[in-house]
Amino acid sequence: MEKKVSRIGVLTSGGDSPGMNAAIRAVVRTGIYNDLEVYGIMRGFQGLLENDIYKMESRSVANIIQRGGTILKTARCKDFFKPEGRKKAYDVLVKRGINGLVVIGGDGSFRGAVDFSNEYNIPVIGIAGTIDKDIYGTDFTIGFDTAVNTAVEAIDKIRDTADAHDRLFIIEVMGREAGFIALHSGIATGAENILVPERKTNLEDIINSLQEKERRKKLVNIIVVAEGDENGGATNIAALIKERLPLIEARVCILGHIQRGGAPSCLDRLIASRMGYHAVECLVEGRYNVFVGIQHNKMNYVPLEKVSKKRGTISEEWMKIVKILAS
Ligand code: ADP
Repeated sequence: MEKKVSRIGVLTSGGDSPGMNAAIRAVVRTGIYNDLEVYGIMRGFQGLLENDIYKMESRSVANIIQRGGTILKTARCKDFFKPEGRKKAYDVLVKRGINGLVVIGGDGSFRGAVDFSNEYNIPVIGIAGTIDKDIYGTDFTIGFDTAVNTAVEAIDKIRDTADAHDRLFIIEVMGREAGFIALHSGIATGAENILVPERKTNLEDIINSLQEKERRKKLVNIIVVAEGDENGGATNIAALIKERLPLIEARVCILGHIQRGGAPSCLDRLIASRMGYHAVECLVEGRYNVFVGIQHNKMNYVPLEKVSKKRGTISEEWMKIVKILAS
């Protein structure tokens, strides 16, 4: 690993997130600025082991900073879980002379990257591209801000109709096993209840609060549920509430994939540009196998292995704020 990095590959892996293009752009242009050759690897690890790789120039990333999705495409690659798959990927890298990798993805992609770099001594840098925000060692992940803003816009609209009809709406947002999108969008829209997988849902509390609000003639209620909640999402929560309060008018809305798409917010473009720049700087300076996070507005370089094993956590402070403000 002492050999200097001269030709780097960049890929996007796992779930896509708005702002990945801005990160690719930053990696490509910072690489070229540092006299590196930069190669785009299509469809994540899948494209790597299929040698679906092309050389990128500064112009290859023109006019993409504002676009959602990823020009390199993304995929989930079963073969990369197996040592034979990773061997194939390594052979491709050797053949193409690529001696450094930037992986833009979530914790799954980082686990793959760690296995790969341990086995083959390939320097890898991780950038968090995920709307779920469940990554250890960073205050931001690329795409989270855009996804939350999309959810907020949608929930605001739903509240208008909920208000017109005096109705309960149970809205499901994304986040896989993490509740950050639910928490942030719920607080920002004044949701009456926010259910996240990181905390056990107390159905009794929800029923009591709905009954109490009915007494106070507060009939509009928005419950935001993370898709990974232990009760299985909005449809199940609605059924559980209906069982206890059969007369209640409850509507379910599952926001779904609109949260992944769309133009990245300014914040996501900024953090993607900053992380992409620092990822390449790490490779140039020989700071290998780290994750480039941002904490307290400073770069935070954490061993990729550590990031792949831990998760970001929801603070008690936020949970307390939710409880007080939603009364
Ligand atoms: P994300 O990166 O968004 O969390 P996934 O968990 O689907 O998405 O992971 C993306 C890809 O990373 C997988 O399809 C697989 O190719 C690779 N990967 C994930 N976990 C591992 C692992 N433990 N070992 C090897 N490769 C992995």
